[in-house]
Amino acid sequence: MAHAVNKEADALLDKEFKVLDHGFVRLVDYMGTDQAIVQAARVSYGEGTKKVSENRGLIRYLLRHRHTSPFEMVEFKFHVKLPIFVARQWIRHRSASVNEYSGRYSVMKEEFYIPQRSDVRYQSTVNKQGRSEEVVPDEMKDRFLDNLDKSNKESFGQYRQFVDEGLARELARIDLPLSLYTEWYWKIDLHNLFHFLRLRMDSRAQKEIRDYGTVMADIVKTVCPMAFEAFMDYTVNSYSFSGPELKILQGRLTVESLDKDEIVKQGLSKREAAELIDKLRRIKEL
Ligand SMILES: Cc1cc2nc3c(=O)[nH]c(=O)nc-3n(C[C@H](O)[C@H](O)[C@H](O)COP(=O)(O)OP(=O)(O)OC[C@H]3O[C@@H](n4cnc5c(N)ncnc54)[C@H](O)[C@@H]3O)c2cc1C
Repeated sequence: MAHAVNKEADALLDKEFKVLDHGFVRLVDYMGTDQAIVQAARVSYGEGTKKVSENRGLIRYLLRHRHTSPFEMVEFKFHVKLPIFVARQWIRHRSASVNEYSGRYSVMKEEFYIPQRSDVRYQSTVNKQGRSEEVVPDEMKDRFLDNLDKSNKESFGQYRQFVDEGLARELARIDLPLSLYTEWYWKIDLHNLFHFLRLRMDSRAQKEIRDYGTVMADIVKTVCPMAFEAFMDYTVNSYSFSGPELKILQGRLTVESLDKDEIVKQGLSKREAAELIDKLRRIKEL
């Protein structure tokens, strides 16, 4: 099969999609589309079917059953500009290849992330890692934002002065704040990108990294629309239940009344409808 072309995806190349106040995500390159997933899967399943609707069904089957290796055939290379505190969370995803701007080699730019006023919130009392919905008084917002601005300017001024006096850049930079922007190239395959997006688009992730996840999700949706749809259905919008939780649900299930044709009318494929009934029967028999 020839190199897959996706005109909508090609139109995204090299565009900077703005994130936060100074950040962006830029799709530098991609390899493969939905077609690459189908092509790889057919090596294991034989020629099989070829219609678009059947490709969609195959991709959905693969994702639903966690047959993940065909999704590794699609690759994305991004150029990302992001605050260092976001980069620290991001870099924990070890399954990507990264090349970052060097503060030892080059002088850092004077660009800091300053949150929007509406994002300045109290500590959440229910989520130890999150923000509350409670409104922070204007006086406190002003004090917090003014303080950020003042300390950023002071810290960068000192940095610049030491650099100008010839101090090693690798030393001069060590006291710069985590809100300073950095940049990197980040290359990852679709399987691992879905893992990243699942964790970082989630409401429990920090708002700032979530903003990047949302922009990247839109790009993925354009490059591989069928895989992205399956990811939303079977990963983002799905729930798993523990054994004890299923025991609680067991008594409330009425599998007998489920009709396969009725389920199909509600949007599931015949295969998925059969899988749903089978799943519910197995829960009943736990
Ligand atoms: C909301 C949220 C809060 C978090 N809070 C904290 C925190 O307080 N402190 C903290 O330190 N981290 C925190 N993390 C980071 C988290 O623990 C993971 O390190 C991060 O999400 C990367 O996940 P990963 O290891 O699955 O991804 P990747 O590194 O991309 O790995 C993908 C998968 O590959 C496999 N893998 C990769 N490398 C190895 C390896 N060396 N050994 C075994 N398997 C491997 C695993 O199956 C892994 O799931 C948080 C993450 C989130 C989303």
